[in-house]
Amino acid sequence: MLSRWRDVTALRPWRISAKLLIISSVVTVIGFSAICVNVMLDMRRGEEALARQTLENLATSIQSDVSRNIEIYDLALKAVAGNMLLPELATVSKPIRHLILFDHATTARHFGAVQVFDAEGGLAIDASTLDPVTVNRSEEDYFRVHRDNPEVGLFISRPMLFRGAYAIVLSRRISDTDGGFLGVVAGSIRFSYFHELFERLKLDPQDTITVLKRDRTIMMRRPFDLEVIGTNLNDRRAWKADNLTVGASYSGQGPVDPTPRLYVRSGDTGPLFVVAGKPLTAVFALWQKEAFRIGAVVLALALFVLGSTLVLAREIGRRAEAERKLEEMATTDALTGLKNRRKFDSVMDVEWRRAMRQKTPLALLMIDADHFKAYNDTFGHQAGDQVLVGIAICISDSVSRAGDCAARYGGEEFAVLLPNVSGSDAFKVAEKIRLKVQGWSDDPVTSTVSCGVASLVPTAGMDWPVLVAAADKALYAAKAGGRNQSVVASLPTLSLVA
Ligand code: GH3
Ligand code: MG
Ligand code: MG
Repeated sequence: MLSRWRDVTALRPWRISAKLLIISSVVTVIGFSAICVNVMLDMRRGEEALARQTLENLATSIQSDVSRNIEIYDLALKAVAGNMLLPELATVSKPIRHLILFDHATTARHFGAVQVFDAEGGLAIDASTLDPVTVNRSEEDYFRVHRDNPEVGLFISRPMLFRGAYAIVLSRRISDTDGGFLGVVAGSIRFSYFHELFERLKLDPQDTITVLKRDRTIMMRRPFDLEVIGTNLNDRRAWKADNLTVGASYSGQGPVDPTPRLYVRSGDTGPLFVVAGKPLTAVFALWQKEAFRIGAVVLALALFVLGSTLVLAREIGRRAEAERKLEEMATTDALTGLKNRRKFDSVMDVEWRRAMRQKTPLALLMIDADHFKAYNDTFGHQAGDQVLVGIAICISDSVSRAGDCAARYGGEEFAVLLPNVSGSDAFKVAEKIRLKVQGWSDDPVTSTVSCGVASLVPTAGMDWPVLVAAADKALYAAKAGGRNQSVVASLPTLSLVA
């Protein structure tokens, strides 16, 4: 019951600051984490861009190497196709004819010997020998394509076994001056060329390089797999041509194997193009390591900050509680639980000034236990204390408005401050208290109280001891009048409110 007198307002600012501390810590942690995630994502994008650039350079340089070699070989084929029309060729010896027809470039390491086939597909001239064997290639693609279509130009075959080694065959049509079909000149670039080219590069085992024809036939692939060589990507339903356009990149599962990679396609300048691929795990390996490291540090820091915040907030709460208790102890009377004299004086001071400002009455009850000395002498000090507690309960039960203040004024004397209450209303409160004390116990030696009541509207130049003195005076009058009664102070007409 007495707890209603606790002053809890002191608790609130501390609660707010503990909450603020937690909120600001959480916001800070979220902010830093967001920045960290952003930086991580930027780093990831940077790694991807770097890998894409490296793969693009790789694909482009392989493509230009392959294109240059095809061009050199094609020039040799063109020269043969042109020189075959020289009428003098029929008159010279075979060695001289070889010298006229075949360029030394075609004897380079990975190039197969150039062969000339007549209009029926029979091997007519072979750069590697003066006496060629009798074979007929009229059923081969590289022959039929020129026989059936004069406009093909340079034809690059699918990878095939050519003269005992895997190779791609390059061929050109030999036409007479009227465009009539005279035969085909063909030569090969062996796979050893690609193997050597790829070996020169520093690549991881999982990196891929794929050389494709414009029609998307795989001419060569690293890692080497005969199953894949010669197949066409158009036959792979799951793989769309749009996935990897000229000069673009693609991130994910490729058409050949399930390993997710970053694939970059070279430009489309030659008859072939190149796609270089690197597993995404390798592309992001360094980033992942760094991201884990930084992520772990940030997580640890965030946990540390949040943990310390919680500890700090709990400390603040404890301190607030301790201060609240201290404040309560400093303002409460230990025996009765009412406000003590010190608190009463400060409340009186505040209320007096407020009443003066608002020109409202301020009422004071001074309540004193009757014949208390005698009671103490008869029943003992401890019984007396119990009576004082009982009177305090009767007072606080009768005084319930928010601004009211009941206090133990001293010894067996109590004071009740009632802001904005007239003398007559204050008298009613005093009577209520008095009757409550009187009816409180069935004991024949029931204690009673006398009440002095005063109420006035404070005016400038007046101080609150005036009100105390008036209430005191009324109390004396009540005592003099026979005790167990309430008396209202008679104050000068100006300030008396009744
Ligand atoms: P009156 O009716 O004129 O007020 O008579 P009274 O005996 O109450 O007045 P008096 O001032 O002579 O005596 C006050 C007594 O109150 C004296 C003291 O023993 C007692 N008293 C003061 N404080 C306490 C207290 O905290 N506990 C107890 N048990 N008695 C107290
Ligand atoms: Mg007294
Ligand atoms: Mg007394």
